[in-house]
Amino acid sequence: MPSSWSFFTSGQLVFGPGAIEQLGDWSHRHQLKRILVVTDQCLRQAGVVVPIEEQLQAAQLEFTVFDGGTAEPSLEIADLALAEAISWKPDAVLGLGGGSNMDLAKIVATVLSHGGIPADYFGFDQVPGPVLPLICVPTTAGTGSEVSHAAVLTDTQNEIKVSTMSNYLRPDLALVDPVLTYSCPPQVAADSGIDALTHAIEACTAVDYDRMQIPAGESSSYTGRQPLGDCLAEKAISLIGQHLVNAVTDRNDHQAHDAMSLAATLAGMAFSNCGVALVHALEYPLGGALHCSHGAGNGLLLPYVMRFNLPERESTMARIAQLLGCDIGAMDQQTAAKEAILKVEQLRQAIGIPHRIRELGGRQEQLAGFAEKSFAIKRLQWVNPRPSSYEDLLGILQAAY
Ligand SMILES: [Zn+2]
Repeated sequence: MPSSWSFFTSGQLVFGPGAIEQLGDWSHRHQLKRILVVTDQCLRQAGVVVPIEEQLQAAQLEFTVFDGGTAEPSLEIADLALAEAISWKPDAVLGLGGGSNMDLAKIVATVLSHGGIPADYFGFDQVPGPVLPLICVPTTAGTGSEVSHAAVLTDTQNEIKVSTMSNYLRPDLALVDPVLTYSCPPQVAADSGIDALTHAIEACTAVDYDRMQIPAGESSSYTGRQPLGDCLAEKAISLIGQHLVNAVTDRNDHQAHDAMSLAATLAGMAFSNCGVALVHALEYPLGGALHCSHGAGNGLLLPYVMRFNLPERESTMARIAQLLGCDIGAMDQQTAAKEAILKVEQLRQAIGIPHRIRELGGRQEQLAGFAEKSFAIKRLQWVNPRPSSYEDLLGILQAAY
């Protein structure tokens, strides 16, 4: 069992309204000349691409825009982006969007640097060395991809999300400019906000770093719960408790949007070191088959997994209740811990996240298949505070059905 922990994040983080104005300077200091922007049509139409183009133009940088990104991008979309990248030969890749576009940018930078196809790098630590300079500019407050080591694609043929995880995929520069999230549609703000909450809760309820059991011959991309991740996750949870609902329901509440942008980035730093666990393990097959967004799937599953983990994480969950703004004054620890679950359910309700798998069109007979696929994702189960069998996973899915 490990007796030390380490911490990685993006090379530089610039946070705050107007952060994108630093793009030109940073690119010059890093001697970049040709930048490939990876984004999508929806953001183009929402007017979010233009401010980035203006920054690149003002800095006299050459750039081209691949705007064929999609939500939960497939391997086929990755091939299209790669074809454009390979013919244009950029010296840096900029991912502009939610996690989907940023993840696509990471895959493009990886394959441009090391050749082959995206599938060559699936799993943990398969990227052999540094990749092209990578800049990530989030337009949603949720995934934390701007600071994380993960890139997730969807294998549509096998109906499952596939992830590439490597510390070489941490962006060199994360420009987190909350202004870019102000035009985010409410549904997207809800899905990505509950994803950020899931990241923070899974990180600070993870198994302790010095109790994590990794089978001989295996290595983990996550450390388990550790002090620095804990600080970041706690701050994120309290910001989310205060601001998530307003960020979804009031487009003009810029303070709420700014706070959610910060929360998502902090949660990204926490989970991409400590880890995510059963919520994400169960969401991968669920999202792959039912085509719900990653955030909606996680938000649906989160309270059910918290209930399963409660016996192992009572005091942490009581603390989460407090961070989410519950008055736990006179409650005993177990009641306070349960309060955290109720509060997460209330938040989920307030922002319109589905409560049941059947609401997403899932069928009872699919649950066994979901449990089987989740059970195969061992690296996320190592992080969970409570060991889980196939039957446990099926039980959680049945409760959520
Ligand atoms: Zn997530």
